[in-house]
Amino acid sequence: MKGLIFSVKRYSIHDGPGIRVTFFMKGCPLNCWWCHNPEGISQFPETVRQTNKLGIREFSQNEEVGKYYSVENVLEIIAKERVFINQSKGGVTFSGGEPMLQYEFLTEALKACKENGYHTAVDTSGYSSAENYLSIIPFTDLFLFDLKHLDDTMHIKYTGVSNIGILDNYRLLLNRGKAVMVRIPVIPCINDDPYHLQQLKQYLATTKTETLKKINLLPFHKIGSSKYKKFNIPYKMDGIEPPTKESMQIMKEQFLKTGVKVKIGG
Ligand code: SF4
Repeated sequence: MKGLIFSVKRYSIHDGPGIRVTFFMKGCPLNCWWCHNPEGISQFPETVRQTNKLGIREFSQNEEVGKYYSVENVLEIIAKERVFINQSKGGVTFSGGEPMLQYEFLTEALKACKENGYHTAVDTSGYSSAENYLSIIPFTDLFLFDLKHLDDTMHIKYTGVSNIGILDNYRLLLNRGKAVMVRIPVIPCINDDPYHLQQLKQYLATTKTETLKKINLLPFHKIGSSKYKKFNIPYKMDGIEPPTKESMQIMKEQFLKTGVKVKIGG
């Protein structure tokens, strides 16, 4: 069995505890307006034309996005970083895209990582069946779980899917005693109005269990915007500026009232 992966990040420090190897799996059933990894949305390998400028000259070449890896390939990559992982109490994270879209490969990879003694994390939008989440629980030490919008109409508008199953899965994981870090992308004009933030805060406070380890507030940024042109996907966030440091700090203080640790960034 092989999994389609579009990027491997070594020495990752934003995708769970310690130093990690993060595998970005290709394919996502959502289509968030602000997605920083549009190359992760299609579930098929893609070839894009990459143009670089040197002075007045332009050089173009084809770039393959997405490569098939076996579980053994994944283990070989991680093994090279074992010293850093062990010293930092790090591990392995499967991100995307949406890793649950390649559920069978993900399960095999998680199992193999656990058998080799690695801490495992799954970074997920929450959009998969409850059965799928339940079946990877034994091999997953930590879920990095996105909450984007509590209003279903807004969620559908800005991500393309309903949040009903996502919220069910979020509570399911907590109620099963799994460690969860909530990741909230803070997107100006979409989910950062005071009313919605207040609702989110209340939701987190009332549903929390002792295994809700942290709330990560992830400020919108434009770093991935140039990729949209490359992948021929319309960019819908033109004119939207990242939130200020001050507004993020105020938000952090508000979310601290849930009684959960809060961090700005991953
Ligand atoms: S869930 Fe994540 S990877 Fe999928 S479209 Fe949204 S931001 Fe992008």
